[in-house]
Amino acid sequence: DGEVDFKEDAKFAQHLKKGDAVSDFAKSNSLAQQRQYLPIFSVRDELLQVVRENQVVVVVGETGSGKTTQLTQYLHEEGYTNNGIVGCTQPRRVAAMSVAKRVSEEMETELGDLVGYAIRFEDVTGPKTVIKYMTDGVLLRETLKDAYLDKYRVVVMDEAHERSLNTDVLFGILKKVVARRRDFKLIVTSATLNAQKFSNFFGSVPIFHIPGRTFPVQILYSKSPCEDYVEAAVKQAMTIHITRPPGDILIFMTGQDEIEATCYALSERMQHLVSTTSGKARNLLILPMYSQLPADLQAKIFEKPEAGARKCIVATNIAETSLTVDGIYYVIDTGYGKMKVYNPRMGMDALQVFPVSRAAADQRAGRAGRTGPGTCYRLYTENAYLDEMLAQPVPEIQRTNLGNVVLLLKSLNVENLLDFDFMDPPPQDNIVNSMYQLWVLGALSNTGSLTNVGWKMVEFPLDPPLAKMLLTGERLKCLNEVVTIISMLSVPSVFFRPKDRAKESDDAREKFFVSESDHLTLLNVYQQWKANEYRGDWCNDHYLQLKALKKAREVQSQLLDILKTLKIGLSSCGPNWDIVRKAICSAYFHNAARMKGVGEYVNCRNGMPCHLHPSSALYGSGDMPDYVVYHELILTTKEYMQCVTCVDPRWLAELGPMFFSVKDSDTSMLEQTKKRKDAKSVMEKEIESLSKEEVEAETR
Ligand code: ADP
Ligand code: MG
Repeated sequence: DGEVDFKEDAKFAQHLKKGDAVSDFAKSNSLAQQRQYLPIFSVRDELLQVVRENQVVVVVGETGSGKTTQLTQYLHEEGYTNNGIVGCTQPRRVAAMSVAKRVSEEMETELGDLVGYAIRFEDVTGPKTVIKYMTDGVLLRETLKDAYLDKYRVVVMDEAHERSLNTDVLFGILKKVVARRRDFKLIVTSATLNAQKFSNFFGSVPIFHIPGRTFPVQILYSKSPCEDYVEAAVKQAMTIHITRPPGDILIFMTGQDEIEATCYALSERMQHLVSTTSGKARNLLILPMYSQLPADLQAKIFEKPEAGARKCIVATNIAETSLTVDGIYYVIDTGYGKMKVYNPRMGMDALQVFPVSRAAADQRAGRAGRTGPGTCYRLYTENAYLDEMLAQPVPEIQRTNLGNVVLLLKSLNVENLLDFDFMDPPPQDNIVNSMYQLWVLGALSNTGSLTNVGWKMVEFPLDPPLAKMLLTGERLKCLNEVVTIISMLSVPSVFFRPKDRAKESDDAREKFFVSESDHLTLLNVYQQWKANEYRGDWCNDHYLQLKALKKAREVQSQLLDILKTLKIGLSSCGPNWDIVRKAICSAYFHNAARMKGVGEYVNCRNGMPCHLHPSSALYGSGDMPDYVVYHELILTTKEYMQCVTCVDPRWLAELGPMFFSVKDSDTSMLEQTKKRKDAKSVMEKEIESLSKEEVEAETR
């Protein structure tokens, strides 16, 4: 790899030639050196000039060129933070946290001081914060309180090419801010795609290119389609480790389960290798990376391995563009990723595994060429790449439920959603479906405007059904209990189940079971943890994840703060938990299911089969309940209901009259479906006539 070093040295020498860089460099520590090494540094002055002369600029650069970590600092150094702050949005929470941490280190300040971040339920900023990283969802919610984002001098919309739902809505909102506030600047950054489209959207604004510095990547395809890509990836990684020169490995998998399975298989092979080579094998540092992984473990991917060791990072598509790790020479790409997609059959969003787009596959390959010439092993055929993959991913706004977006835009007085300035408007079907769901929950009136319930729901950073549960909890006087349940639903699983102690941990979990409800089981866990003074050793003894519980406690305190500002008083139902189940039912009656056999249910609305998850507390009861509601469906080998609560069918009739009547059990499925369709077509007509009125009003 001598050639690589040589090239890097040449670049470095170029920087040294720049007069003032030399003296700066001599004084600087290594983080500052690294900053000057980044491609964006060589165009710092030109870039700042373009920003000075334009209100909106699109900045394009390869991943790793320094857009996310440097732009904000340049703006700060340039004085933009003297009046107002610099905000930078990220589609992913992990990226917001990790990048803020990095930038605070580069600026030698505590995280939360000059540099901070905010994600849902977590605000690590302070009065001195001038650079604020946040998820796009957080900024979107801020526009509710402050429509023209007055505290921001500059907003950097980062990773715009991801086209996340919130980013797409922000585009429309920020366009208005730009028109209204002359002092406001907007920078939109993007990997190489879509730049022209972004520029056009804001009225042909300049596109600034950061010169790339990438090395060629050799691409190798699988000769035949592979059956088990986890196995194939593990094999490939081991082959690289044993036969190829130094350089770290990055494997793309679709989600946490696969990542854990891959890491486990890799560590087994390594143990085997170490024992058969009598300890002479080089060490392989196996590092998982996914959004639910605790932050300290996430940070490990950036650490340098000990001399002679090789890193192998196993990640979701988070490592595609959001996070850049240097030193990767080998990429193993399964060609798949998880995407949230609205599934009309289920009437809800589900995370599903899909082949990635060609653009995403190329991004993945590019990760191998950051430090030197690399290799990308594609675990799919070249024909699959050419014929089966889409050129570009479908923007989220065109494939997911828009419940939250509809609620938010309505509260911003966007009466007719079809009028909103979307870069790519969502399909009308999606809008209608989402409005229908909100109407069912009582958030929209028959004419499609926000009801009192709807206005209250907007106040909570929760999905509409959870917000509804909370408001029903208030009405039924069990708000404390409901807030705890919502907090527990908002964090990763609190149950710890190590593979080698599955039996012990299952037994421990069963002790918390409330046989009518998984939701109440979660409530029970939390209340017992509280009764044991929130102790960590108590968690360990009971196979509970302290971190997740602590997180739930934080979420709870945030929700309590919001309730306080809304002057909503707390209430508890004590040990009478039946009423809590009714509150749960009010949020999920659209996810009601009727028993068909042991552990087997059918969805009451569409007759779709769904199964009780093996981990459910409901297996603990002698009889299976006839009617249940569930939090969500997950698709693995079967369609499993996740987090299930037994309900009284009369509640369904009371809370969801548009779906159920007391005699429902006698009514045929056909009739029920018809009733639902009727209700929906009324809604659709309302919406149609609404938009017609709007059009007429405009032409007049
Ligand atoms: P871009 O946004 O253009 O993709 P970034 O600003 O994210 O580029 O990355 C610039 C450099 O900073 C990369 O070399 C990356 O490895 C490094 N970097 C970013 N975050 C961290 C971190 N948390 N720890 C260490 N290095 C980091
Ligand atoms: Mg970036």
